[in-house]
Amino acid sequence: MREVDEECRKLVRLLGEGGWLKYSIGGVAYGASAETIDARAVCLIRETLARHSGLADFAFAMQGLGSGAISNLGTQEQKKRYLPSVAQGSAIAAFAISEPDAGSDVAALQCAATKDGDSYLLNGEKTWISNGGIADFYIVFARTGEEHGAKGISAFIVDSDTAGLEIAERITVMAPHPLARLVFKNCRVPAAQRIGESGQGFKIAMSTLDIFRSSVAAAAVGFARRALLEALSRSTSRKMFGQMLADFQLTQAKLAKMATDIDSAALLTYRAAWLKDTGQPVTVEAAMAKMTATEIAQQAIDSAVQIFGALGVVSDHVVESLYREIRPLRIYEGATEVQQLIIARGLIKAHMAKVKG
Ligand SMILES: Cc1cc2nc3c(=O)[nH]c(=O)nc-3n(C[C@H](O)[C@H](O)[C@H](O)COP(=O)(O)OP(=O)(O)OC[C@H]3O[C@@H](n4cnc5c(N)ncnc54)[C@H](O)[C@@H]3O)c2cc1C
Repeated sequence: MREVDEECRKLVRLLGEGGWLKYSIGGVAYGASAETIDARAVCLIRETLARHSGLADFAFAMQGLGSGAISNLGTQEQKKRYLPSVAQGSAIAAFAISEPDAGSDVAALQCAATKDGDSYLLNGEKTWISNGGIADFYIVFARTGEEHGAKGISAFIVDSDTAGLEIAERITVMAPHPLARLVFKNCRVPAAQRIGESGQGFKIAMSTLDIFRSSVAAAAVGFARRALLEALSRSTSRKMFGQMLADFQLTQAKLAKMATDIDSAALLTYRAAWLKDTGQPVTVEAAMAKMTATEIAQQAIDSAVQIFGALGVVSDHVVESLYREIRPLRIYEGATEVQQLIIARGLIKAHMAKVKG
C-alpha cells in the first residue's frame, strides 16, 4: 500500500511538472490551460495515459474529479487557495460522495452537515474514496437537510488535516490505487468551505460527473487500444501449426472485432466531449460513451488475454494488468446499468416532449 501511495504521489508531481495537470482545472488565472475544463483535452490525455499506465491515468483523472466542483462553482478565494496547487501537482484532490448504503443510489447519502454558527459539523461515513489516505483535501457531499433526497445535499471542501476526519480503513482493490473509507466525527468545517449554495450539492456532483464521465470512456479506449496493439504484436510473432497465430481467420475475426469496437467507442467518446465543450446537452451521450467504451474495452482486453494463452494470465503481464485495470470502470462513476437508465430516461423524455409537441 505504501508503494502505491508513493508511486501515486510521484505521478501527480510529475504530471504537474510536465504541464499535464493544467488541463484538469479551469481558470487561466489559477494555472489552467483554459477558462473552463476542456473535455476533449481531458479525454485525449486520459486515453494516452491509460494506454501506458493505469496509475498515471488514475492520478491525472482524480486531480480533475477531485477539484472539478471548485473549478466550476468555487468562490475566488477557494479557487486561489486550491486550484494552483492542484495544477502544479503539489496538492492531491479527492471526490467523496459514496457511502456504504449509498452507491448507485447516491441521493440516499446520510453523512450529515449540521450548521453550527459560522461552520458546519460533519458526521458520518464515506467509502471507496479514491486518493483516500493521500489526498490533501476532499470534496465531501453531505446532507444539509433543506429537503429529502437529492435536494438536501451540499458540497464542502474538507482539508485532510481537519480534526474529526479519520481514515478509518484502507481498501485494496484488484488494480491497486489509494482507496479508503473515511469517518467524520464532529468534523468542523467553516461555512466558507461550502461550494455553491446550500442544497445544491447533488447538482454540483452531477455537473462535475458530466464533464468527467466521457473521460472514463476515454481511459477505457486507451486500455483497449493497448490490448489491441499487444494482441497484434503477439499474434504476428507466435508460431503454431506451421504458421503464425495471426494467419488463422479465427484470430483475424477477433482482431477485426476489437479494432471496430474500439473505434466505435472512441467516436462516441469524442462526440460526448465535443458536445460538452460546445455547451450542448451531454448527459445521454456521455452515458452512451461510458457504457459502450467500458463494456467493449473489457471484451477487447479479454480477447487479448485469450490470444496470449497462458502468458496472458501471468501476474503483471501487460494484458493481465489491463484485465484488472478495466474491471472497476464498469462500476464507478455510474455502473453500466445506471448508464442504461440515464440513456433510456433521456430517450423517453425527448420522445414525450416531441409527441406533446
Ligand atoms: C475502484 C473504485 C474507485 C472509486 N472511487 C470513488 C471515489 O473516488 N469517490 C466516490 O465517491 N466513490 C468512488 N467509488 C464508488 C463508486 O462510485 C460506487 O462503487 C458505485 O457508484 C456503485 O455503488 P456500489 O458499489 O455501492 O454498488 P451498488 O449501488 O450496491 O450497486 C451494485 C450493482 O447493482 C447494479 N445496479 C445498480 N443500479 C441498478 C439498477 N437501477 N437496476 C439494476 N441494477 C443496478 C450494478 O450492476 C451495480 O454494480 C469507487 C469505486 C471503485 C470500485
